[in-house]
Order: sequence, then structure tokens, then C-alpha cells
Amino acid sequence: MKKSSWFIFTFLFLIFVSSSAWIALEHIKKESLKTIKNSLQTVTLTTHEALYIWIKNRQQQIIEIAQDEALISLTQQLLQINNDKLKTSDLADSPLSQLRVFMKKKMKIHQDIGFFIISMNKKNIASMRDNNLHETNVIFKKRPVFFKRMIKGETLFVPPINSDIPIKTKNGTYVENLPTIFIGSPIYDENQKIIALLTLRIDPSYDFTRVTQLGRIGASGETYAFDKKGMLITNSRFEQQLRQIGLVAAQETSILSIRIADPGGNMLDGYTPKVTRNQLPLTVMAKSAVAGENSANVEGYRDYRGVPVFGSWIWDSSLGFGLATEIDVEEALVPNYKTRNVLILAVFSIALVSIVGFVIWTRIERQANDALEKAFSKLEKIVEERTKELQALSYQDGLTKISNRRMFDQSLDREWHRAMRYEENLSLIMIDIDFFKAYNDNYGHVQGDACLTQVAQIIAKASKRTTDTIARYGGEEFVMLLPNSSLAQANILAEQCRQEVIAQNIAHDFTQVEHLKCVSISLGVCSMVPLVNNSPPMLVQQADQQLYLAKNNGRNRVE
Ligand code: GH3
Ligand code: MG
Ligand code: MG
Repeated sequence: MKKSSWFIFTFLFLIFVSSSAWIALEHIKKESLKTIKNSLQTVTLTTHEALYIWIKNRQQQIIEIAQDEALISLTQQLLQINNDKLKTSDLADSPLSQLRVFMKKKMKIHQDIGFFIISMNKKNIASMRDNNLHETNVIFKKRPVFFKRMIKGETLFVPPINSDIPIKTKNGTYVENLPTIFIGSPIYDENQKIIALLTLRIDPSYDFTRVTQLGRIGASGETYAFDKKGMLITNSRFEQQLRQIGLVAAQETSILSIRIADPGGNMLDGYTPKVTRNQLPLTVMAKSAVAGENSANVEGYRDYRGVPVFGSWIWDSSLGFGLATEIDVEEALVPNYKTRNVLILAVFSIALVSIVGFVIWTRIERQANDALEKAFSKLEKIVEERTKELQALSYQDGLTKISNRRMFDQSLDREWHRAMRYEENLSLIMIDIDFFKAYNDNYGHVQGDACLTQVAQIIAKASKRTTDTIARYGGEEFVMLLPNSSLAQANILAEQCRQEVIAQNIAHDFTQVEHLKCVSISLGVCSMVPLVNNSPPMLVQQADQQLYLAKNNGRNRVE
């Protein structure tokens, strides 16, 4: 495969791996959001159930107290005295004192902090303390809807309201305005006519908050209750944070002091809303819940601190409050982030491995190509050498295209014996170019070759007989083997060749032949009738001697 195809393959593979990982991630996220939603809903429903059981329990208890004959009788007596506008507390053995003793015992069971007996015209006719006697009852003032329902015969849980009297805190000091819960039930006379209301005052930071706190999941999950106006009626899990960002004053509790409103930004990150808290819209959760909806949200919304959360909520119209379970988005998605990181790591590793693989592969391929190229050039060299060898074996000179030495040797042998048989003359002209080394040195080898070829052609043309053998003897030396030619004939031919070369006027500025500025040749001529005791080399030797003479006698001549 080509390098580019491998690159495309690797690239497509990586795209495939990353998109599979992405799809897997989306799937995992969807699944974990589903799980989160289920968990939140389960916690909300469980907490609601626990609160419901606790409230039903307390309602059952107060119904029993309200049906106690002693209480009914004392209430009837108080109603009489009240009608007569008597100051009841003055009397040591008065019905009020007896009621207080009676109620104290009942209150001890659940550590309740007070009680009321309220007349049908909304006045307190009995209480643990004197200072709110004969006042209009606080429940009627703060939660009139609940009051009216009780007076019509319902036994109710009244969500927290700010107290009308200072309440003793855990450290023994009395604090004004602390939130209190009431449980109330009507008191019937023997004719089943409602004559008054009995209420118990409950500290909301005990059982009520404790039960909702059972729903705390993780480090940021909390379940809390809120009333119809969207006010928090249980303690916030984040009271410390709320004090830091100024939503709850130092001495206050979060109950009834937090409106479940969206600040518009994360207050833990330093965001401060532009308007007062009462002007802010309720959170997505609170808005939906106070409208009576039971729902959940795992897309994320800001809670009362402005922190993005997932949540689930219900509204209980019979109890008159809502319950929400929320968890910070950041915490809820931690397992998802972990999975995501593992997947991203895996994809990166795969990408790295494929890229490294790709690089290694290209390197190997390049090395293979290099090796192949080397092998090819080696082969080319071998072919070239073989060609040269073949050329040497053939009969033509590769450069000058006239016969070669091999041809000459064979011809010489053949013609020698033929001349011997017919007792004919065999002539040989030996030719050498003058000062050819100087030509080569000054004009270069390429031009030297051209000159050699030109001279070869001249002497080849000069020979008119087909039986003549014109060959390159070696280097810049040529031979002309002339069967059946006399010395005189050979001399004439030699002289023709010499003149023809001069006539060609091949420029040679570096020749040392006198009066010449062109290429010239020297020729040695020899002719003999071969004898039995002579041999072909003898002819060559004698021609060579003549050539040597021509050189010595000034070159550009025939000897
Ligand atoms: P002289 O006149 O004495 O013959 O002098 P010269 O320079 O011709 O003789 P020498 O033998 O010193 O030099 C022969 C030169 O011929 C040497 C070499 O450079 C050249 N030669 C031999 N064969 C070839 C060839 O095939 N091509 C080329 N270009 N030059 C060749
Ligand atoms: Mg030579
Ligand atoms: Mg020479």
C-alpha cells in the first residue's frame, strides 16, 4: 500500500475510535443521569414517607390528648372563666395551673416546648406562659389557612412559623423569633361540638429536621422542606456556607430565613445578585413545586446558593409543604467524569500507538525502498559491465564503430595464411595520432573521443577495397591490413590518409608538429610475402618500427 493510503487508513481508524468513544461517553452520561434521577426521586419519596409517618404519629398523639376527659373539662372551665374575663393565673389551684401540670407530662414524651388552648375566637386561653394569654393566636396570624382547617375539625401539622415568644435554645439562652412547628387538633365536648383547639409547640430543629436529613447523599446532596411561599422550613445542610455568603445572620437559623430563590449566579464563587432576595425569582424547583408539581431535573439548574444542581421534588398539599432533594452537578457527575477520563486516556493511547506504528511503518518502507534502489543500481552496474564484456567479445569497436582489435587479430591470421598460400604481398599500415595526449588534456576526453571517431572514419573511407581490414588497434592507434597490396600501393594509401586528416583541419593548438595547428597522424608501412618460418606478429612489429621512425622523424609523415 502507498504511504498516503496508509495515512488515510490511520486517520480514518482514529476517527472511528474517537467517535465510538464519544458515542459510548454520551451513552454512559445518559445512563448515569437516569441513575441520578432515580436516586434523587427515591430519596425524596423515602424522606417524604418518613416525615409522613412521623407527622401521623404526632397527630395521633395529640388527638388522644384532645380526647382526654380531664383536658376537656379543664378547657370548658377555662372557657367559662374567660367569658367572665377573670385573671386565671392569680389562682394557684385554677384550671390553668391544672392544665399546665397535665400538659407538662404529655409534652415530656417528645420534648415539646409548649402548648396552646385556643378559643373559637382565636384567643389563647391557656399556654405554658402568661405573657401570650388572651392574645390573638400566632398560628391564626401566621398560617391562617391551617388555623381555619383545624377549627373545621382537621388535625394538622403546621409548618414552621416564627415564634411569638422568646424560645430557650440548646445553650440555655432565650432567643426571639425562633421558628416553631405546631401540631393542632380540635377539642370536642360531649355533644361532639368543637369548643377549642389544642396545639403542641415543637422545635423544628429536632425530629423534623433530623428526619429530612436522612436524605443527605454524598457531600453535597440534601433534602429540605419549604412552604407555599418558597421559604425553607428545615435546616439547610449548608448553614456554614450561607453564613459566609451572608444569607443567614450569625445568630439565626436557616429555617424561615431562606427564600428558595435563584440568585442568578453562583454565590459561592462570589456572585452577588443585583436585587434583594425577595425580588429574585424562585428556583426552577421551587417554582414548579409550589405550583403543586412533582418532578425532577437532571439538566441542571441553580439552587438557592446559585450552585448548579440536579433535583427531584414533590408537593404534599395535605401536609402543606414541599420536599426537594438536590445534589451538586459537579459531585453527581464525578463517576461520569472518571469514566470519561479513562476513555479519553484509552483513545489517546490508541492514537499514539497508531501514529507510532505509522511512523515505524513508513521508516521500514523507506529502508526497504532504499535497499531496493541500491539493489537496482548494483544490477545496472552489473548489466553495464556485462555489456562492455559483450562488446569486447564482439568485433566492432564501441567508440569508433570500425573493426576492433579482436577482428584485426582474426583477419591478420586469416590473411597471413591466405597470402602465404597464394604467395601474395600482405601490407600493414600502423597509424598513431600525433600529440593526442596534449589534445585530450586540453580539449577534454569527450572531444578526444570525437576526434578519434573522426580520424577512424577518414581512414575507413580512404580504403576502397572490401577485403581491407581497418581496425582500431588500441588507444589512438589504428591499423589497415591490406591483402594483395604492394608496398607502393600501401604507401600511396597511407599518404592519402595522412593528407586527408590534415585536410579535415581538426583544430589542435597544442600539437608540437612544426607549422601545424591541427590534428595529424604518423604512419608506419610494411609489406611482405609471408614465409613459413615467419609469423603474423612479425608484420605488426615491422609496421610498428616504421611508425616509431615516423614519430622520430618529426611526425605527420609516412615511413
Ligand atoms: P605521440 O605523438 O608521441 O603519439 O604523442 P601522444 O600524446 O599521441 O602519445 P601518447 O601515447 O603519450 O598518448 C596517447 C594518448 O591517447 C593517451 C590517452 O590520453 C589517449 N587515448 C588513448 N585511448 C583513448 C580513447 O579511447 N579516447 C580518448 N579520448 N583518448 C584516448
Ligand atoms: Mg600512441
Ligand atoms: Mg599518439
